[in-house]
Amino acid sequence: MSSSSFLPAHARCEATVGRLAQPSSLYDGYIFDLDGTVYLGDALLPNAQRVITTIRTAGRRTVFLSNNPTRTRDECSRKLTRLDLPTSPDDIITSSIVMIDFLKRTLPKARLFVVGEQPLCDDLRGAGFTLTEVVNEIDAVIASFDRTFNYAKLQIAFDAIRAGARFFATNGDRYCPVPGGGQPDAAAIIAAIEACTNTHIEAIVGKPSIHTINAILNILKLPPERCIIIGDRLETDIQMGLNAGMTTALTLTGASTLRDAEASSIKPTHIIDDLGDLLPAFSSIQNPKSEIQNAP
Ligand SMILES: [Mg+2]
Repeated sequence: MSSSSFLPAHARCEATVGRLAQPSSLYDGYIFDLDGTVYLGDALLPNAQRVITTIRTAGRRTVFLSNNPTRTRDECSRKLTRLDLPTSPDDIITSSIVMIDFLKRTLPKARLFVVGEQPLCDDLRGAGFTLTEVVNEIDAVIASFDRTFNYAKLQIAFDAIRAGARFFATNGDRYCPVPGGGQPDAAAIIAAIEACTNTHIEAIVGKPSIHTINAILNILKLPPERCIIIGDRLETDIQMGLNAGMTTALTLTGASTLRDAEASSIKPTHIIDDLGDLLPAFSSIQNPKSEIQNAP
């Protein structure tokens, strides 16, 4: 039996972990984190396919959200489709997409130095931005999840920021969960640049920032109170949902543990073992868990 805990929205502030009533109605918009929530590495997490298909069958919107800028939305779309969850690129928001939106509004002509991987560079170039390694041409340094990070990149970022370049980041995750562990993420790159330049990052546009919330709601065209966000990380997925006034569900399939949730001041509305624990809310449509429990 699941150890899921469901907390009503009005109780989230004083919530402690414990079994409470399940959601009694469907939401109009479902916002799923990807890494650690829908999949881990190249495999879907338990019940993800069944739950998301059921939600879609019920006519509700699903969008997918990733702070990971190392895959384009087309790549995310192809991956989900290959994993038997056909998804349009338009229903995927990565921190690269949010960064493009942010730069177009704040520094539309900026020449950028990117401490990041090829997909982010491709997305930024595709959106019309110029990328350069010439220090006196750099208007902004973009820090990101970069497994090709090296001293030469740090030197350029250092020189550019000391010469007056702006300093932004796609995301602030400390690590990205992967099967068997994790990989150091953008927080490590930001910290390296901050340490040597004695500056502080100006904006991190990925979760949990307002820039990402705005991008999601722009796709869903729904008020936040009719949406639920499901994610595996308290300080990003859950914090952002709470900031936006959404119902939140922490899934224990990725970064944050039940112990983390008990110790944290960030209190999700629901805590679930995996996406299968969202299904009881849809029992009138399809409820494989009930079928299993009711089987003779
Ligand atoms: Mg995640």
